[in-house]
Amino acid sequence: MNENIVAERPTFVTHLECSITGERYAADQLHGLSRAGRPLLVRYDLEAVKAALPREILAARETDLWRWRELLPVRRTENVVSLGEIETPLVPISRSGGARVLVKDEGRLPTGSFKARGLVMAVVMAKELGVSRIAMPTNGNAGAALAAYASRVGIETIVLCPEDTPEVNVREIAMQGAQVWRVNGLIDDCGAIVGKGAAEGHWFDFSTLKEPYRIEGKKTMGLELAAQLGWRLPKAIFYPTGGGTGLIGMWKAFEELEKLGWIGAERPRMYAVQAAGCAPIVRAFEAGEEHADRWEDAHTVAAGIRVPRAIGDFLILRAVRESGGKALAVGDPAILKAVDDCARKDGLLLCPEGGATLAAYRQALVDGEVQEDEDVVLFNCATGLKYPMPEATRTLDRHAAIDLNSL
Ligand SMILES: *Cc1c(COP(=O)(O)O)cnc(C)c1O
Repeated sequence: MNENIVAERPTFVTHLECSITGERYAADQLHGLSRAGRPLLVRYDLEAVKAALPREILAARETDLWRWRELLPVRRTENVVSLGEIETPLVPISRSGGARVLVKDEGRLPTGSFKARGLVMAVVMAKELGVSRIAMPTNGNAGAALAAYASRVGIETIVLCPEDTPEVNVREIAMQGAQVWRVNGLIDDCGAIVGKGAAEGHWFDFSTLKEPYRIEGKKTMGLELAAQLGWRLPKAIFYPTGGGTGLIGMWKAFEELEKLGWIGAERPRMYAVQAAGCAPIVRAFEAGEEHADRWEDAHTVAAGIRVPRAIGDFLILRAVRESGGKALAVGDPAILKAVDDCARKDGLLLCPEGGATLAAYRQALVDGEVQEDEDVVLFNCATGLKYPMPEATRTLDRHAAIDLNSL
């Protein structure tokens, strides 16, 4: 039994806050977006957390996601469902990356992607707040994580994905108990249908950042990273950015850790990595804008970051700018080359989105944006096993003479 979940605990959420106007919202009520139509952020009594949670207590706990419970929104332990949300390893890739490059390999999480972090939290909160039917647009991995956790707590799910979503994602979503529909459009087209259904009362809208708790789950990436590195953050983080929940969540985590006195004011430079075929955040970053326009005709092999429009665009851009980082775009050929190199040279099979972070890191080295002696963390957000791989076609006929010298 996991002590982190069983343990009785006080709870430290004080309220929620509109990310653009700062308007306050009550905790313990079901919320979507703020009245201004923007994401809500969960706020905690961090002074009380500080008093209740000395770092030695944290250090003695099992290292999974629930270790961070004082900094998470769940009120009642009995509502927690878990599929084993482990701490993910930091894997050096010295050959394909460099001597100071670590990959945080999120592919080890339940359902094979870091969407498990966000969705376990959002589903547990939905259960706590009495939701019985959820719909969500997805490029694949989020739908799979939603299906898994919602089935486990007995919430019905309807998942809409673009018709060219990787086949394995569509099938895993169906197998884990969701109703899954292929839609002839992109993720924001799916989102429009979900939004309409929510407005008409058919279901609760679980789109990225349209409910407040996914960020809190994804925030654990930042908490975990700090703990794993001995409370010293790397110089730079390369994050594959679609809706940007993870980047926004980590930025929030660092702020909370500083308020707890566990890290200082220094921050990593945050690099939001997008694919050249869908780079709305990069375009807005370069134009000096606060919001990003929709990217038309989006296409890339990295399905997880094919997000033409992000509702948290201003939060991503703000974090990137405050950190002294950048938004960077890389082409599909560089992405595929990075995946290939990392697998062949370092034995680590990245997903294409993870490949994008390696490709962006390499480009940043060439451009003098990062130095070889700087500690860098790249995020690989799903297991490479979910994605199509090049064919391997060699065969041997066991009945014929085999020239072993030729193997
Ligand atoms: C969803 C997803 C992303 C993008 O994550 P966001 O936090 O929504 O920007 C990146 N990589 C993979 C594999 C994903 O599934």
